[in-house]
Amino acid sequence: MALVRTFLCVALPLFFEVSCLPERNEDTRLSFFAVGDFGGTDLFPFYTYTQKRVAQTMGKLADLGNISMILGLGDNFYYDGVQTVDDPRFKTTFEDVYTAPALERAKWLMIAGNHDYRSNISAQIAYTKKSHRWHFPYYYFTTVKKIPNTDMTVQIVMIDTMLLCNDGENYGFPSASEQLKWIVKTLEDSNADYLIVGGHHPIFSAGFHGNSDCLLSSLKPLLEKYDVTAYISGHDHNLQHIKEEDSSVHYFISGGGNFFVHAPMSYSTLPKNSLKLFYGLTGGFTAFDATPSSLKVTKISHIGKELYTTEIKLKKERQRRGVTLATRKRARRSFLGKRLRMLRGKKGATTIKSFIGQSPRKRTRKNQKQRK
Ligand SMILES: [Zn+2]
Repeated sequence: MALVRTFLCVALPLFFEVSCLPERNEDTRLSFFAVGDFGGTDLFPFYTYTQKRVAQTMGKLADLGNISMILGLGDNFYYDGVQTVDDPRFKTTFEDVYTAPALERAKWLMIAGNHDYRSNISAQIAYTKKSHRWHFPYYYFTTVKKIPNTDMTVQIVMIDTMLLCNDGENYGFPSASEQLKWIVKTLEDSNADYLIVGGHHPIFSAGFHGNSDCLLSSLKPLLEKYDVTAYISGHDHNLQHIKEEDSSVHYFISGGGNFFVHAPMSYSTLPKNSLKLFYGLTGGFTAFDATPSSLKVTKISHIGKELYTTEIKLKKERQRRGVTLATRKRARRSFLGKRLRMLRGKKGATTIKSFIGQSPRKRTRKNQKQRK
């Protein structure tokens, strides 16, 4: 992984002389981190030793590299979330811990975990307007980033697995079906080269919490249908990589931002030969390097040790998506052409514009009421 290599090159130049030759195409790389379950503690000093060490390592590596964003995978504040947008925990557990300049510059894409739902999610959403880096515009959202100096893109789709698997509608939250429709539309519309979905709860996990039946039935088929590159989550406090033999979707867990648990107690429930990594002996996080040829995913410990790397080759996804989109457009044009000829036959000339009618309805969302 480029960032770890760079770090080691700075720290141990004598031992890494050969491998420290500059890498080619360094300027066509989009690097970002993912960390979950990093919400400190509700007792003074409001962060844990592991959280602090992971934050320091993230900071060092981010300062050496060019980290543009960080995916925050939920459980942002242990154990009971935050009460208001002015809650001091924003400072003590987040701002005062992730202090490296590169972590200050990066955009933190945030979603909620189950512990956040013990208090006020609206306060966390509202904090987006108070912070230059905390980006939590809605319960679920998407963002697209360009790989520098290319026309290739990485799309991140952040979802709320609490609302997807629980009936929040009665409490003023968006319903599971509303979010599911949004996920389908977002994935369907994507033409990104790398499509990554982030949520708090894992779909597969060898850890304490195990697999999620809800997500296995509702989300997994969508990830496969829409050719999602990877699903990354937290919730279990360790680092995992799971990949089924008959599916192209990679499942990563990065829940070591604050605690660590090395107990693969749900191993037997996983699909055969699917567990590639299980590590919970220390805290840690995940680094992504998207390049024109591959997406490298590296698991890094709290002290910067590279624990595991896998490389997901760009498997013609772009071309396939391009073909899919082109096919869809051709089908639409053919359909429109037929209808136009039919209409012309009946009523004489008409125009494409009048036939298509108005543009698709734009969704407007009411602000959900705060749950106290
Ligand atoms: Zn959790």
